[in-house]
Amino acid sequence: MKSDKVLKGQVYFCPVCGAEVSVIRAGNGNLAPVCCNTEMILKAVLNPVYYCSVCRSEVMVICGNEDNLEPKCCNRIMKRYIT
Ligand SMILES: [Zn+2]
Ligand SMILES: [Zn+2]
Repeated sequence: MKSDKVLKGQVYFCPVCGAEVSVIRAGNGNLAPVCCNTEMILKAVLNPVYYCSVCRSEVMVICGNEDNLEPKCCNRIMKRYIT
């Protein structure tokens, strides 16, 4: 599965060793990560990213669910990026 546009939170995995990478900052290039001499596969999920509206810090949910997640920074609840 190929994607033209790189999105923050995209996840690629290696079908050989199971390694995973996630996009922290999306640029305009053609991202095509390789592991074990194999092109990594784009997963059908986006890791959710929350940001602080005061200091612009960002956190990414790597695994697990967000049901009870309430990340705070600078005494405020962080906002969820809508991608
Ligand atoms: Zn690998
Ligand atoms: Zn902050």
